[in-house]
Amino acid sequence: MARDPRYDILFEPVAIGPVTARNRFYQVPHCCGMGHGYPSSNAAMRGVKAEGGWAVVCTEEVEIHPTSDISPYFEGRLWDERDIPTLARIAEAIKTHGALAGIELAHNGASNPCRFSRTPPYAPSSHAIFTSDPVQPRVMDKADIKAVRRWHRDAMLRARQAGYDLIYVYAAHDLSLFMHFLNRRTNHRSDEYGGSLENRVRLLREVLEDSKEAVGDSCAIALRFAVEELLGDDGITSAGEGREVVEMLAELPDLWDVNVSDWANDSVPSRFGREGAQEEHVSFVKAMTSKPVVGVGRFTSPDTMVSQIKRGVLDMIGAARPSIADPFLPRKIEEGRPEEIRECIGCNICVSGDFTQVPMRCTQNPTMGEEWRRGWHPERIAPKGSDSSVLVVGAGPAGLECARALGQRGYAVTLAEAGEELGGRVTRESRLPGLAEWARVRDYRVGRLNEMANVEIYRASRLTAETVAELGAAQVVIATGAKWRRDGMGRRHRKPIPGSEAEHVVAPDAVIDGMTPDGPVLVYDDDHYYMGAILAEKLRRDGHEVCLVTPAADVSTWTHNTMEQARTQTLLLELGVEIVAQHALVAIAPGEVELACVFTGRTTRRACAAVVPVTARIAEDGLYHDLMADSSALDAAGVRGVTRIGDCLAPGTIAAAVHGGHHYARTLDAPEDEDRPFEREVPALSADWPRSVSA
Ligand code: ADP
Ligand code: SF4
Repeated sequence: MARDPRYDILFEPVAIGPVTARNRFYQVPHCCGMGHGYPSSNAAMRGVKAEGGWAVVCTEEVEIHPTSDISPYFEGRLWDERDIPTLARIAEAIKTHGALAGIELAHNGASNPCRFSRTPPYAPSSHAIFTSDPVQPRVMDKADIKAVRRWHRDAMLRARQAGYDLIYVYAAHDLSLFMHFLNRRTNHRSDEYGGSLENRVRLLREVLEDSKEAVGDSCAIALRFAVEELLGDDGITSAGEGREVVEMLAELPDLWDVNVSDWANDSVPSRFGREGAQEEHVSFVKAMTSKPVVGVGRFTSPDTMVSQIKRGVLDMIGAARPSIADPFLPRKIEEGRPEEIRECIGCNICVSGDFTQVPMRCTQNPTMGEEWRRGWHPERIAPKGSDSSVLVVGAGPAGLECARALGQRGYAVTLAEAGEELGGRVTRESRLPGLAEWARVRDYRVGRLNEMANVEIYRASRLTAETVAELGAAQVVIATGAKWRRDGMGRRHRKPIPGSEAEHVVAPDAVIDGMTPDGPVLVYDDDHYYMGAILAEKLRRDGHEVCLVTPAADVSTWTHNTMEQARTQTLLLELGVEIVAQHALVAIAPGEVELACVFTGRTTRRACAAVVPVTARIAEDGLYHDLMADSSALDAAGVRGVTRIGDCLAPGTIAAAVHGGHHYARTLDAPEDEDRPFEREVPALSADWPRSVSA
């Protein structure tokens, strides 16, 4: 299909210093949990994005020296020559597909305690470091400043040698040493590197000048700078020093990559920020420089992108998450099929990969992180391996993705759903406060399924073992999901909470589906992801007095990994939800509950009219077991295989359900060899062995 001419502007080339980007789509640097730990996975993932049409594809932050060690997180590493081949593999994968390869060099000063290198972190002044590690930074003297400049310059040269076209100086997210110099909060020096803004910006200016001088003839120099920290007068603001810094350095870099710090403000989850949320803070930059400006905003709509360019907000459409959810986003717009974009839902499951130190995953894109390890491509899939017909039971995220990918392979697929609506938990949960965008998981898949002549969808069709047999499909996939427990069993309680059978105990599913109990409600969260807090929010917004009790130290504690925790707890407090942390619910009685301190066991009583225990889920696997109980009936019906996927197999995240559905579809008729070693990169052993340890 031809591209809509309204979007032509997105495909104009952009000159960036000595190099030229083929269009305006720019994958900004983003962490991926791979870094130096999983280099081939990293290279394949970045290469797929270049193939998908991004004109610039960047690495994550890349440590330049042992004093910038970010361990245990897997970021890039370019400490010395030995790191060049790893980064060269990534650059090559990007450039093979005609994109510019960008690298974000980083020295993060006192943001990291240098746990592996065991050097004291560097800082402009004496202040506490940014983690809770029991170390303090060394205050940099002039020789240290010179050394950092030299290390940065040397890393620039190594980056060019590794094949990068565009090299970053990083001063964003309050993580960077250059930001620590720039910021009044962390720079208390009285020499020429402290005091006035001109002095505080000196190191950043010097590093930019060093970079231009070292590699500027052949590589573009990008500056990533946080123009706003949302800290008022305590921080950089787009009306104050952020603007002044842009004015001072306006023409020095070849490109400005501007954002709002910290990372949780930059990658704001959809629960707390909309598409294009940074515009009000970054839009001033373009008027102050002739150099291209890139910014992010979880842009997935080509109309919004065009508007950003036409209104002079940005020159290039920056993206991390939209490029993760759909590496082929630019190509889909270019080829006139924007409705096929797999839009990011803003859940930040991708971010959790970095925080938990494993290759990232994505709710919308099950192939993310699996490009090298399993050879999964986000758009291509092998044709069907047989003429088997497949029945998929349940149209939640697992069933929808399974049917979609099987349909793409060319199988004859029947998708049966008990309810009137498709989408399962995603549809139901998307009606909860802040989760509307999560319906995109359904919408993308239903959109593709509706285009497939080989997939039939039956709604309002609750199947039983008998009706499954009647349908006579060769393969049956059970994707019937899971239900929340009502008995309080979870991490804390391995058996039902006494009194949980009482009528005023309300299952989370009932609240999700709109039931509102009478009177004050106690939500007990032993699940620790989003559901406990969101049900508390919903009930509070519905007008209830709400108390949220959790054995954890804070609300939704796992969401530290998705950068939602602080905003969640703030929101609940502002709404007037009472929070009782570090307490377990030990008994439920009419009109009251008994709580126990998780440390002392000391108990207290609280009055409440209803209790909602959000603790764990149970697989809805009855149909699966009914089918497996009668193998002769299956044989007689011609059913050759029955498989559980998604929450019906093991309750988990939506991302896990989508991945499970996709995995089934990929491996039908080409099963993975379970005895094959798990695909992974094994560390290269040092040649320097054995080494004397006695000297
Ligand atoms: P998952 O996350 O694994 O996809 P969900 O709970 O979101 O699971 O979706 C499961 C879907 O399966 C729901 O839409 C539910 O209505 C449907 N379902 C459950 N049992 C049956 C059944 N016996 N026949 C057809 N559909 C079913
Ligand atoms: Fe978007 Fe969620 Fe995928 Fe991250 S994991 S890219 S936030 S859909």
